[in-house]
Amino acid sequence: MHSVETCGTVDGPGIRYILFLSGCPLRCKYCHNCDTWTGSTGRIMDVDEIMEDVKKYRPYFHFSKGGITVSGGEPTMQYAFLEELLKRCKEEGIHTCIDTSGYCDLDKADIFLPYTDLVLLDLKHIDDRKHKELTGVSNEKILKFAWHLSVKGIPVWIRHVVVPGYTDDLQDVERLCQFMKELKNVERVELLPYHTMGVHKWEELGFHYELRDVQTPTPAFMEKIKAIFQKYAIKVS
Ligand code: SF4
Repeated sequence: MHSVETCGTVDGPGIRYILFLSGCPLRCKYCHNCDTWTGSTGRIMDVDEIMEDVKKYRPYFHFSKGGITVSGGEPTMQYAFLEELLKRCKEEGIHTCIDTSGYCDLDKADIFLPYTDLVLLDLKHIDDRKHKELTGVSNEKILKFAWHLSVKGIPVWIRHVVVPGYTDDLQDVERLCQFMKELKNVERVELLPYHTMGVHKWEELGFHYELRDVQTPTPAFMEKIKAIFQKYAIKVS
C-alpha cells in the first residue's frame, strides 16, 4: 500500500476512503503519481488492518452515499488482495470502486469484479501506436477490459485527459467517442485538462519529465473537444 486519503471527493460518488496501492505496469508521460510505480515507498498492510480503519468512516459514507475507492498505481495488479478487500467491504455494506487504467487480464479481473460496484476507467488514447508512445504499453488489453465491463453491466465512469500534442487530435477524439458510444454501461464521462501538479514528484525521484513544455489546454479548446463528445450524444463534465 502506498498511502491513504480519508475524505476524497473526486474519485467516485460521495465522500470516499481512497487507498492508493503501489505498483503500475504503465509509465504515462503525464503521471502525477509516479511515486506509486514501485513498492519502494509503500508498506504492507493486511485486509483486517485496512477494514478496521475504513469502518471508522462509515458515518461519512452513509450520509454522503460514499464508500471506498482503490486507486494507485494500478490497483488491479493486486487482484487477489482486491478481491478480499472489496468482498469484505460488500459484507459491511460499503460501496466499492476501483480507479484503474484497465490494464488487466480478464481472468484476473473476474476475480474482483463480482465485488466492484463502480469502475473509474482512464481511457488514455484510442490509437494503439500513440497509446504506446504515451504510456509505454498497448491499449489492446484496456479496450478489451472496457468491453468486458460493458458485457457484465458494471457501471463505469470514464476519464480522459486532454494533453496538447498527445491526445488532442480531433480525429482520435472522434474514434474514442465511437468506441465509447458502443459501451452500454457508461454513467459518466469526465474530460480532464492536462496539468503539471505532479511534476515535483518526478523531480524528487530524479526522473526526466518529458512534457515540461506542454501547456494546460485552454477552456476554449476543452469546449471544442467537449463538442465532439456531444455530437455523439455523450454527456461530459
Ligand atoms: S496508469 Fe496511472 S499510476 Fe500508472 S503511470 Fe499511468 S497515470 Fe501513473
